[in-house]
Amino acid sequence: MSLSQLARSIRESPTLKLNETAALLRDKGEPVIHLGGGEPKSKAPIDAIVSCSSLLQTGEVRYTPADGIAPLKKAVIRYTEEHYDRQAAPENVIVSSGAKQSIMVLLHAILDPKEEVIYPVPYWVSYPEMIRIAGGVPIPVTARDGSFEPTVEEMAEAVGPYTKAVILNSPNNPSGVVYSDAFIAGMVELCERRNLYLIMDDTYNRLIFDGRAPTNCYRFTQIHNLDSSKLVVINCVSKMYAMTGFRIGWAVGAKELVRAMTNIQSQETSGPAAPSQWAAAGALNGVQSSIESLRLTLENNRNVMMTHLGAFEGVRTGRPGGTFYCFPDFSAYEKNSQKLAALLLEKVRVVTVPGREFGMEGHLRLSFCGTLKEITEGLARIKWALDPGAPNELFLGDRKLVRDWR
Ligand code: PMP
Repeated sequence: MSLSQLARSIRESPTLKLNETAALLRDKGEPVIHLGGGEPKSKAPIDAIVSCSSLLQTGEVRYTPADGIAPLKKAVIRYTEEHYDRQAAPENVIVSSGAKQSIMVLLHAILDPKEEVIYPVPYWVSYPEMIRIAGGVPIPVTARDGSFEPTVEEMAEAVGPYTKAVILNSPNNPSGVVYSDAFIAGMVELCERRNLYLIMDDTYNRLIFDGRAPTNCYRFTQIHNLDSSKLVVINCVSKMYAMTGFRIGWAVGAKELVRAMTNIQSQETSGPAAPSQWAAAGALNGVQSSIESLRLTLENNRNVMMTHLGAFEGVRTGRPGGTFYCFPDFSAYEKNSQKLAALLLEKVRVVTVPGREFGMEGHLRLSFCGTLKEITEGLARIKWALDPGAPNELFLGDRKLVRDWR
C-alpha cells in the first residue's frame, strides 16, 4: 500500500487503543478493571439531553455555520465572561468537534513547516502527533528537578528562532498537577515578550480539588484587546459535564485567528454535529450542579487512590490537584512502563497507561474516574502483581490466580 510519509509517521492514539483492548477483553468475559480511562462515568446533564432532544424531535437536523450555532457561541461568551472575566464577541469564538479539533485547526492555522511548539513534560499524548500532523516540530521540556512543572527559565531555554507556540494544560493530563500561578504568569509574560502563541488547554479547568480555584491566564496579560492577543483558550463540555461522546469543544482567541481556523474547519468537517451543539448549549445554559457533584466525587476518589497508593513501598506519587489522573513512579518495580502496563493487563487484567506515552518513563497513568470499587480492587490487584511479599494467590471473581512470576 502506498501511504503518505505523514500517515506512516503518525501513531495510533495509545489511550483510545487501550479502551478498545479493554472492551475486547470484557466482551470475552474477562474481569477487566480499567484504570486507563479518560472520561467520567456520570450522566450528561438533563438540560443537555432536553435541548438535544428538542432538535431531534423536529426531525430537521441540518448543517450549521462552520464555527458553531449562535446560541452555543452565546453560551460560550457568557462562560468566558463568568470564568475568565473577558468580553468576547461571537467572532472570537469557534466551536469544534471536541477540544481536540479546536487544537488541531488552531495548529493548522498557525504553523508553517518546521515551526516548533513547546510544552512541558509530562504532556497529553496527542500533542506531539497533532503538531506533526500540522507540519510542526514538537519540543517537550522536562523539568531538571524531576518534577511535573518545569520552570519558566527551562521553558524559555527551549525558545528558539523557529518557536511559534507554547501549549500549557493545567490541571494536567496525565499528572493531575495544577500549575502554579507564578508559572502561568511567567509563561504569559514570556510568550508576550517573544511574540508567541500561548495555547491554554483548560479542558480540566473545572475539576480542581482542595478548595483551589482555576488560574485565569488573562489575569497576567498585558494585552487587553483580545484581537491583538496571541493567547488562545481551549475548553470543552467533554470532561466537566461528562459529555465526551457529544464531541463539542471551543477556542476563544483573536478574530483574525478564529476566522482562519473557521476556514480550515469549514473545508475539513463543516460545523460540528447540530444535536451535539444544542446539547452543549443546554449544558452551558442549564443547572450547573452536576459539575460540583462530579468534582466532589473525583476529589473523594483521588483521596482513596492516594491512600491505597501510599501502601506501596517504593512507589512515589504526587497528589493530583485536579483532573482524574495520577501519575505515580513505579520504576522501583519496573523501569520500562510499557512492559509494566503489559504485565498488569496480562496477569491481573488491570488497564493502565504507560508513562512513556506522556514523555516520562517509569511512570503509569492511573485514572480515578471509575467507581471506588474499581479503584480499590484495581490497586489491590496491582499490589499483588508487583509486591513479592504479597500472598501467592489472588481471586479474580471465582478464578484463582497463582503468581508464577518474579
Ligand atoms: N486536551 C486534553 C488535555 C485532554 O485530556 C483531552 C481529552 N482526553 C482533550 C484535550 C480533548 O478533549 P475532547 O474530548 O473535547 O476532544
